[in-house]
Amino acid sequence: MFQPERVIFEKEALQYPLGQKLYQSFLTESKVELYEAAGNRINTHIPGAGLFDKYRAGKQTLVVGVKKSLKFQTCKPSAHYQLPIVSGCMGQCEYCYLNTQLGDKPFVKVHVNIEEILEQAMKYTRERVPNITIFEGSATSDPVPVENYTNALSKCITYFGEQELTRFRFVSKYTDVDSLLKLKHNGHTEIRFSINTERIIQNYEHHTPKAVHRIEAAAKVARSGYPVGFLIAPVFLYENWKEEYTDLISYLSEQFSKNLCSTLTFEVISHRYTLRAKDRIFEVFPETKLPMEEKDRVFQYGQFGYGKYKYTKDQLKEMEQFFTEVIKRKIPESKILYII
Ligand code: SF4
Repeated sequence: MFQPERVIFEKEALQYPLGQKLYQSFLTESKVELYEAAGNRINTHIPGAGLFDKYRAGKQTLVVGVKKSLKFQTCKPSAHYQLPIVSGCMGQCEYCYLNTQLGDKPFVKVHVNIEEILEQAMKYTRERVPNITIFEGSATSDPVPVENYTNALSKCITYFGEQELTRFRFVSKYTDVDSLLKLKHNGHTEIRFSINTERIIQNYEHHTPKAVHRIEAAAKVARSGYPVGFLIAPVFLYENWKEEYTDLISYLSEQFSKNLCSTLTFEVISHRYTLRAKDRIFEVFPETKLPMEEKDRVFQYGQFGYGKYKYTKDQLKEMEQFFTEVIKRKIPESKILYII
């Protein structure tokens, strides 16, 4: 669970019951700095001159705000729309896409107008009748560490569980899932867990739980009937990668009984980076050991002029063969969605 050093309330948030409730509860926490600010003045309360300090202070900051624009972003290919309940994340993964996406706003922001957000989701759903509409809850965040403050996931899971034509999905590295176990989800919410080898977690995924704990959390939600998936990402091809990823998948197979495995899905994504992300990573983590040598990678042109540096074709082929073989051997009932 996220324990911020400072909490900044947007003034409008205090007009909502959840905003008031959170304000009252943080008032009693003597160690937490509390501020009220206009939506465009948040950064003035986050200390630090450069990006290096702003990033660290931002990661200790919770902003309680209102989602004003209810125009949802599309979210292809994983869903139809992003569901904007949280943005930002307490984790400090060196490779995280949020480093570039959220720029100098690395704080965690929760929205207190969840009911309005859900009403808007229903408007989008009605536009697509009779088709099902899928909402993604983690496009710009990891929503699990702040769930205890807002119950946003619980509200969304229960709400979408009652709607015939909506589905909800989110991905997490965190393990605070107990409050989700007894909800009436009706199989409409898919929870995916992002996992990696212990070496990768220790080196690059700071302030996140161990893989074994993520897998145990996944087994818990699977036993509660949720469809569950694993995102093995980003995969790094280092010395011993095959042994360590095999160990990871072996542990996973031991935690899931046969009937739970039949709903498991896997998405496997190799590490790739843009030069823009690389520059940003070096600013925030000057000592990073992330493998980002252009000479070792192949450049692939991308949208908006931001091409990616990926592993070579032969390396990706080897990776695909390896994961296909190990997952099929260890968890034959599961389904591999893609390996890229
Ligand atoms: Fe980014 Fe996910 Fe790590 Fe959070 S846990 S910093 S969202 S990669």
